[in-house]
Formats: sequence, C-alpha cells, structure tokens
Amino acid sequence: MLLTGTVVVDAETTLSDGAVVTEGDRIVAVGERADLVETYPDHERRDFDIVAPGLVGAHVHSVQSLGRGIADDTELLDWLFESVLPMEASLDREGMRVAAELGYLECLASGTTTVVDHLSVDHADAAFEAAGETGIRARMGKVLMDTESPDGLEEATEAGLNESERLIGEYHGAFDDRIRYAVTPRFAVTCTEECLRGARALADEYDGVRIHTHASENRDEIATVEDRTGMRNVHWLDEVGLTGEDVVLAHCVWTDETEREVLAETGTHVTHCPSSNMKLASGVAPVRDYLERGINVALGNDGPPCNNTLDAFTEMRQASLLGKVDSLDPTAIPAATVFEMATRNGAEAAGFERVGALREGWTADLVGLTADGPRSTPIHDVRSHLVYAAHGDDVALTMVDGEVRYDDGDYPGFDAEATLAKAQELAEEIA
Ligand SMILES: [Zn+2]
Repeated sequence: MLLTGTVVVDAETTLSDGAVVTEGDRIVAVGERADLVETYPDHERRDFDIVAPGLVGAHVHSVQSLGRGIADDTELLDWLFESVLPMEASLDREGMRVAAELGYLECLASGTTTVVDHLSVDHADAAFEAAGETGIRARMGKVLMDTESPDGLEEATEAGLNESERLIGEYHGAFDDRIRYAVTPRFAVTCTEECLRGARALADEYDGVRIHTHASENRDEIATVEDRTGMRNVHWLDEVGLTGEDVVLAHCVWTDETEREVLAETGTHVTHCPSSNMKLASGVAPVRDYLERGINVALGNDGPPCNNTLDAFTEMRQASLLGKVDSLDPTAIPAATVFEMATRNGAEAAGFERVGALREGWTADLVGLTADGPRSTPIHDVRSHLVYAAHGDDVALTMVDGEVRYDDGDYPGFDAEATLAKAQELAEEIA
C-alpha cells in the first residue's frame, strides 16, 4: 500500500508532502510523495491528511471494557474491591472474550496499534484469541492474585504460576509474533512474596517474556505494603525481583527519591496514566523528573472503568496538560515529548523492536488520519495538532503488521457489530 499525507516519521521528523510504502508486514519506503508515487505506481494508493506511527497504550485493561461507567467518582481501593473485581469475577469465558474484543476494537478505531494489557485471573485464553483475531499487537498476561481476592478471584500461588506458564507456551510469540507474554501480578497488595518471586522466576525461564504490574498508584496502597513489608513499595518490588529492563510498572505516582533512583538504575519502564490518576484522584506522577533521570516513561489509558475511554490522543493531551500544571511550567512535557512517550517509549516498554516510528525496514504499524474540519484548521505544527487538538475519531485507517484492521468504520475480516451487540447485552446483565 502507498499512503500519502503529512508524514510524521517520529517525534522529531515530519514530511509535509510525504508518503509511506508498505509491503507485507514491513515499511519499505518513506519519502516525498511525488518520488514514491513514481517509484511505486502499482501499489494501492490511499490519501490521508496525516500518516503517523500507530500509538502504544502501554497499560490497559481490555477485559474491563464492559465496566465503562460502573464505578465513577469512587476512591481507588473501593473502586477496585467493590466494583471492578466483582465485575471481572462475574465474567465467564464468553464475557471475557467480548470485553477484550470491545477494548481492542476501541483501540484500533482510535489509532492504538499496540497495547500492554493487564487481563484478569480467569479465562485469559479468550482475551488472547480476541487479540489474535482483531489484529492488535499486544504484550499481555493473565493476572496473578493469591491474597485478598474477593468473589472467587483468589487463586493458589502455584496454580496461578502454572497457568501463566501454560499460557506462555500457548501464546508467547503467537499470531506471527504479534502477541508476547507478560507475567502479570495485580499489585503487591494482592500478591504474596512467593507469588511475586515466582513471577520473576517464571519470566526468567522464557526468552522475551516480560513482567507487568501496578505500582505506587495510591497512598493507601503504599501504606499497606509498608505495613506488611517494612519497605517502600518500589524497594519491595526490587527486593523480590520486580524491577529491571523487562519490567513495566503502571503509575508510579507515589515514589520517593530513593525509589526513583532504583527505577533509573534498573532500567524499569514506567507507564503514566494521567486520566486514570486524575479521575481516581490518585495524584500526579513525577513524569518530568522520571524523564530527566532517563527513565523510559510510556503512556496508558488504564481501564474503561477509570478513564472512561481508550483514546490515546486524549491521553497524550492529558499527559502534557497535567505535567504543565503540576510543575506550574508551560514548557513541561511538550508535544514532541508526549508524542515520543505514546510511540517509541511505549514500544520500548512493550518490548517490540522496530515499532513506534515510520522508518524503512520497520514494522508497518501506522494510522491515516483525516484532518479537514474546523478543529483541524489550521495546522501550523502537526505534532501539536496530534497532541492538543486531534481525537481518536480522526483516525480513518489503522494498520498493524501490514494488515488493515480498521478502515473508516469497518474492521476488515472481523464482525464488530456482533461484538457490540453482545457487549450491550452483557453490560445490561452486569448492571
Ligand atoms: Zn491498571
């Protein structure tokens, strides 16, 4: 395919009258429109206003999609234990599959091509199948929680680790390597030491498997961990092996100086979730400080019950605005930085190589956007437009691994209408 428009190569480089050529799952050329149209006359041509790398949602909960709006305006631990976990526990295999499909369809329609997805305890196969069939790229894993788990979600330590190992065998590298596994403890509060150490041991056994968990999102959470272990949360995670270049920690809102040093020294990835942190009033993550320390900070929408959308464009805007008001400095977290967080930094955290920029030889994960309405006129700087003015609805086409997965309201090869109808039906049962 030959896609034309203003091409956003990466956070630094744009081509105002450019084109991108894909063949199979690869980008084979990026350059001036006139040159590439002449060189590739037989490629199917699609014209857009903007062509950009697909966005990376480096912390989402696809399987919570049926809970959009169920627990608004609630404190985090109440939100989790009284609404969200009971909802997860109520889903059977089909419910889990529909919820995951719904989440991935929303992502694809709004320009997210890769997610780091935190599933639930049970029925993880259903979400892996949903990722495979909707076509999204995902680093994902079943949740481990072996303590304080309501409504039957509690699972024996060994059973959870064994099931994780089975899923690694089944899905790590599946669907043309679009799907990779992350061992996924829920968070330190709901996991025993044995479980957390077991997660590290399991990840070490398999090449390319990562670890993904929540950390230091909320003050009650870090107080609970400190009471139990005598340590600050990130020090505790470091003690049991859950830091490092293969670890993605969501949130990291409440960290002290010494914990930030650990994150930087170990190369641990942090996913900033500004909408969720604002909606649950968790606090403001010290993103500027993390970036200055060289910590890789990605962006995530978190789950539909705490956001309430998976629109990564909204998340970029929120990240920038929150960073500015937090530091009382309008130069903090500028558009180019936040675009990098939502693309390359996300791909680094997710552990996919040659993803997150439009370069020759890189993977064909990209989006074509329409930008011709009042909200898009004028565009003085395309990155500013994408971060501060664009919406997920501006996405006209989404390609993952060279395959068109969303095209102007359609999902080629996937029956999205059936998913939406079933999701509505199941949501009424949950309500
Ligand atoms: Zn989360």
